[in-house]
Amino acid sequence: MALNPLTVLKQAFGFDSFRPLQGEVVNHVIDGNDALVLMPTGGGKSMCYMVPSICRDGVGIIVSPLISLMQDQLDFLEFHGVEAASLNSSMSLSDQNEVKERLLAGELDLLYVTPERFSNAQFQKLLGEIDIALFGIDESHCVSQWGHDFRPDYRNLGLLKQKFPSVPVIAVTATADPETVDDILLSLDMADAKVFKTSFDRPNISYTIKPKSKKSKQEIIDFLTARKGESGIVYCIGRNTVEKTAQWLKDEGFTTLAYHAGMSDADRYDNQQAFMDGQVDILVATVAFGMGIDKSDIRFIVHPDLPSSLEAWYQETGRAGRDGLNADTLTFYNAGDISKRRRMIHKGNGSTSNKRTSYAKLDAMLGVCETVSCRRKAVLSYFGETYAATSCANCDICKSPVQTRDGTAEAKAVVNLLNEVGDRYDAYDIVSYACTSTSKIKTASSAIRDAFNAIDAKGHEWSSYIRQMLSSGLLKVNLANYGYISVTEAGQAVLNGAAFELNAEKVQIETTVKKVGSKPSARSAAPRKPREDGDYVSSGTSRRKSSKGSPLLEALRRERNRLAREMGVKKYYVIHDSALKEMSEQRPRNGSELIAIKGVGQAKIDRFGTAFLNVIERYAA
Ligand code: ADP
Ligand code: ZN
Repeated sequence: MALNPLTVLKQAFGFDSFRPLQGEVVNHVIDGNDALVLMPTGGGKSMCYMVPSICRDGVGIIVSPLISLMQDQLDFLEFHGVEAASLNSSMSLSDQNEVKERLLAGELDLLYVTPERFSNAQFQKLLGEIDIALFGIDESHCVSQWGHDFRPDYRNLGLLKQKFPSVPVIAVTATADPETVDDILLSLDMADAKVFKTSFDRPNISYTIKPKSKKSKQEIIDFLTARKGESGIVYCIGRNTVEKTAQWLKDEGFTTLAYHAGMSDADRYDNQQAFMDGQVDILVATVAFGMGIDKSDIRFIVHPDLPSSLEAWYQETGRAGRDGLNADTLTFYNAGDISKRRRMIHKGNGSTSNKRTSYAKLDAMLGVCETVSCRRKAVLSYFGETYAATSCANCDICKSPVQTRDGTAEAKAVVNLLNEVGDRYDAYDIVSYACTSTSKIKTASSAIRDAFNAIDAKGHEWSSYIRQMLSSGLLKVNLANYGYISVTEAGQAVLNGAAFELNAEKVQIETTVKKVGSKPSARSAAPRKPREDGDYVSSGTSRRKSSKGSPLLEALRRERNRLAREMGVKKYYVIHDSALKEMSEQRPRNGSELIAIKGVGQAKIDRFGTAFLNVIERYAA
């Protein structure tokens, strides 16, 4: 007997309604069809396979790359009384046997496995003996060599559709660049799957990206001071930087802990827990922290150094503001970072084509650093999305435009070159053609050569121009075609009179010697005044005030925290901050008023309703 998905959503998980696209995906999969679901971090991907696993007969087999990620979901499911388990190498044999028995007895709604376990012959045999509701492929970009963390074992999932043609497969990911998406469909052998994609825009997250300077340390301190008492992550490149940064912030009076792969499992776990429970405000971490982390009230993310790729940066910044409230991100970069990242790729042990992919993804990140128009627009365009508005009003460039200069000549030169020689060259080839006589490009005509000669720019400047042309959509990297660059329609338009602006500030960033007498940038000409509370966020939003919270909100939070402690669960399992905030404003007096609050379902009312209503009543009295 198939269960109704909305009823399952409400009764099992306590959510009132599906998020955009969740309902469509769920019905599509319940009907037995394949789906690829692209949603940003925090979009609610897991519900897309959890609900159909419960609704359909049999067990949902979920392939997930990390044991810690599985554990978080299992905690969540267990808390909601859903029958779920995992099979992985960290479990004792007797525990594994117990899970197998429950599986064979048809008691489980969901089973989590790693791709390694999935490929295991014994496990494959086990699969033949049970009723399977669906296959869920979490973090499915791992299947693609263009995805940013390719896992060879994921490749074996390509046999799924052959072996189990009648079982629906649902792959989910927060990566959406078109090459990766095509490759996922190809690798999973599900060309006919319906692709569901929500917007990747996270309008409540603000973006600020700055060239590193002597002032940057102070800027970080100011940024963190303005957010004292709130939760945030500082992402650093390696374990040494993590340790040093954590110590520095501690010395500056912040409560902070470190997280990196060099620590023991126990220490890492403790520090993660302390952060999740709100005992420390700031976690200083490497990329190792975050996958599958569901802390909804992260209010800020800082990258003191350039991240490795646009995907990584967007995923890391995307961990903020999952509760829908405002969150701020601050990123720094400089020429040294660029060389360091390039060296890391160069020295890495990937294949040539993997390295090419990594360089292109780093360039995409740099493109967003150097862009002269809305950063949000640039990121979304990279993910194949058109952002209709010209300004998002929530990135540093929209708030305070950068100084630009006419770059039409540079753009025309590159477009004409590629039109003549074809899309058989990468950024490096073009740059070396532009400023040296030794390049793979040998066939261009003398008119093209003259156009380049007329432009006075060094190699690093040309690199930057190419990245800016990429990020503004004039050029495009074809990852699936050796990372070669081609001209887009917008690029051709430059030949017909469309203007192209280059960032006037960039030249200073990548040269070691500051240009003397260069015009001050728009930003340094009109420095923003710090607000009285020391917050440099220029728009006069009321976020700072409201996040401190009214006395009622504080009382509700204390009650929520107490309940969480008492039950030994994470705070947001009890209730999200955003729901508490609405409660403090609406002040419901009974269950039926309480259910009107977003994020409060019947399950939550049954468990916690009275406790919160009591707080509100006491407060009103
Ligand atoms: P993702 O895997 O896409 O990063 P999750 O599946 O972890 O996101 O969901 C993010 C958060 O949103 C979780 O706290 C989850 O419980 C919550 N959530 C998911 N779907 C809904 C819904 N329909 N209504 C309310 N909250 C939801
Ligand atoms: Zn913007």
